[in-house]
Amino acid sequence: MGSIRFRLFLLLTLFTGTTLVLAAVSVHSARDFRDGRQQLETSYMIRDEIQDLSSIKGDSEAFRKLQTVRAQLTPYRRMDEFSKLLQAVSENNPRMLRERHQVFLKNEAEFQRYTRQHLDYLEKRLTYFALLALATLLLGFVALQLFVNRSVIRPIRDLSRKMVDFVNDRYTYQFSVPAPDEIGHMQATFNSLAQRVISNMEQLRTLDQAKSEFLSIASHELRTPLTSIKGSLSLMRSGIVGKMNDMADNLLTIAENETDRLIRLINDILDLAKIEARKLPLHQEWHSLNNLVTVSLQSLQGLAGQADVLLQCEAMPPVNVYMDNDRIQQVLTNLLSNAIKFSPKGKPVVVSCQVNERNELLIEVRDAGRGIDPQDQEAIFQKFRQATNAKNPLVKGTGLGLAIARALVEQHGGEIGVRSVPGEGSTFYFTLPEWKYALANKVEVAA
Ligand code: ADP
Repeated sequence: MGSIRFRLFLLLTLFTGTTLVLAAVSVHSARDFRDGRQQLETSYMIRDEIQDLSSIKGDSEAFRKLQTVRAQLTPYRRMDEFSKLLQAVSENNPRMLRERHQVFLKNEAEFQRYTRQHLDYLEKRLTYFALLALATLLLGFVALQLFVNRSVIRPIRDLSRKMVDFVNDRYTYQFSVPAPDEIGHMQATFNSLAQRVISNMEQLRTLDQAKSEFLSIASHELRTPLTSIKGSLSLMRSGIVGKMNDMADNLLTIAENETDRLIRLINDILDLAKIEARKLPLHQEWHSLNNLVTVSLQSLQGLAGQADVLLQCEAMPPVNVYMDNDRIQQVLTNLLSNAIKFSPKGKPVVVSCQVNERNELLIEVRDAGRGIDPQDQEAIFQKFRQATNAKNPLVKGTGLGLAIARALVEQHGGEIGVRSVPGEGSTFYFTLPEWKYALANKVEVAA
């Protein structure tokens, strides 16, 4: 029924108008009551004053006072009667005075009786209308509150609940016909917006799934021939088909390295597809963290040597961790190889481990490399994302390592992240929850 503004206007006009009319009637009654009482009091006063008319002379002070009072008398007939009486006083005519005195007193007695009754009526009317005005005011206040509650607050609360549901992925298509007013219009707009976003998201999800399936099928199909190409290249390099000259050997080395890179990329894609489909089982057992770090550092000594980077290890408490050793090693190796890749010559890369304030095991890899811009610090953990810009040209890599590392750490119940100051270096860290680790002497590690 119309817009909220219009209904609010109607409601306010109705109640304010009624209250004003009732208040006006009350004020009017009060004024009549006051005037009536004044006239009654004057009438009593005149009656007392003119008891002994013989003592009042035409030029006396009392006479002048009565003249003033005369001007205030209402209705006009009373004033007229009183004028005649005063005229008789001033003319000093005893017979006329007696007659007019009697007539005047009779009139006044009638006036007093009528006025007393009228005052009773006015008093009742005043109380009645004043109470009615007050009741209308209260009723208007309650009606206004109910109206605002029903037409504004409740629909807004409903809408905001729907919005929260939408944000928390709990939005349902429950459809209620919105009221034909401003808030109903807002509700309808939000409904269609939410439905459009949901259907777009569903479309994106389907596309993403199709893309992941395609990637994993393509990778699977590529891996088998690549493995045999790599095998053949290795055999050729080992001299099984005769001695190669230096140039051929060089070309074979390049081919073999690139094949290795392709196989790594394909393995990464397959790993990620499995993680996303929740088909990557973790083989968790108690393992020594020290061993894991030592093995990871050893496996990267060659790479660090080539890059002229110093690998260091500090603060390593003797803890055993309940984890999939290979997968956590994969995470650490990825962080270390990135740190080596982005470190300038001669700078150290430091691994450390400690227990943080939340009692989690915190493993950090610190480098003094180029650092990462704040806006890239979250993005680099997404698939195929690299922190590249005009100053940071594209580097060799797939942008998959950190996405896999995040998925693996989260599968272990931990968190992964980075703190970095561009130009000063980065500290990549991951945590493992309290129940995943214990002091080395408390649990037996796997063989
Ligand atoms: P890749 O190294 O194969 O590109 P990652 O997912 O491991 O893939 O890393 C993604 C991007 O994050 C890198 O390309 C680089 O831009 C940035 N990055 C990762 N580690 C570091 C680091 N230690 N210092 C600076 N940038 C880094």
